[in-house]
Amino acid sequence: MASKRIPSAVHNPVTQLDANAKVKELIKLDEKRWDMKELVEQLFDKDEADIIVQIPISSSSSSGKMIWKGTSSGIFTVRSAYYMHKERSQAIKGQASSSHDFKKTWKFLWHLQVTPGDRVFMWRTCLNALPTQSNLFKRKIVDHPKCSICNLEEETATHALWECESTRDVWSQCLKSLQKSHFSKMNMLEIFEAIAGIMDTDCLQEFAMVAKQIWWRRNEFIFNQVFRHPNTVVSAASQNLKMLKEMEGQRSSSVPTNSSITEWQAPPMHFHKLNWDVVVDKTRARVGIDIVVRNFEGKIIAIMRRNQCMFPLPSLTEAYGALQVVSFALELGLTKVIIEGDSLQTVQALKKDEDQLTCFGMFVS
Ligand SMILES: [Zn+2]
Repeated sequence: MASKRIPSAVHNPVTQLDANAKVKELIKLDEKRWDMKELVEQLFDKDEADIIVQIPISSSSSSGKMIWKGTSSGIFTVRSAYYMHKERSQAIKGQASSSHDFKKTWKFLWHLQVTPGDRVFMWRTCLNALPTQSNLFKRKIVDHPKCSICNLEEETATHALWECESTRDVWSQCLKSLQKSHFSKMNMLEIFEAIAGIMDTDCLQEFAMVAKQIWWRRNEFIFNQVFRHPNTVVSAASQNLKMLKEMEGQRSSSVPTNSSITEWQAPPMHFHKLNWDVVVDKTRARVGIDIVVRNFEGKIIAIMRRNQCMFPLPSLTEAYGALQVVSFALELGLTKVIIEGDSLQTVQALKKDEDQLTCFGMFVS
């Protein structure tokens, strides 16, 4: 279903009002509400009227004033106008390429043999949904969009993970095919697609894992003022990759040949399925919960990652994960849901009616 487009300008010619009419003429000032029946719905088409009534009306009777929406202070600056213009140009460019068939790419991404955390990370990266300086600046959370490491360029996901000078030493130590790759003026989705198109699975796995390590290094630099050496970043990614391959090997040797690895199945019509996984950082006692929500067509409708300081006891973290899944479903207002996790202990505990008298029971009772 196409998302509702918010018009940048009203398209219906306004004929019933005077040319000098003001917005207040659409408002029932004494009742502090939009004059729906008499004016708004007659003057505008339904989409426009729906958007107009979402605008809250001040409860005070102060007079109107001009506010610049590009800054948090509401005061115009040339810099904010520059970034607004740039954002609009990129949005237009994005709309022009929206006909691109991403289905194949998403399918490929979700079958990539990496950890669920890496997969969600790559998905957020390709959607430009990482909290980069650029994205935070657009939401007026930070004062500037520049990269905190090089302080030279705007920190988009592509800059942070691929183009920044600080990442070159990392990528130069990776697989040869990655070293030789130059993807200029491409966003992360296009780079991912290009790599998926020309390189093998090993290379793509390495790409996802190294990219995530680069992002972690960037976060450590910003929040802890620690900047890891490129060798450390690459070796952490290699270790993760090695562990993953070992786990894959163990899984394939322990799974009976007649029970193929369970394929993800879409939920029945009108149901949503929540898949979740827990990632535990034992050394820092941190737990990360990744949740993916899909509808009955298998389309992803939401994802969530939540991090929490917690004693890294597997049963406890799995139970905490289960609680987060249920909370997330409630937050989304979903009532018909199927929750799918890989912790047998948690699933069995959720099925029982009686209280769980362990620390595990804090979350699943
Ligand atoms: Zn940079």
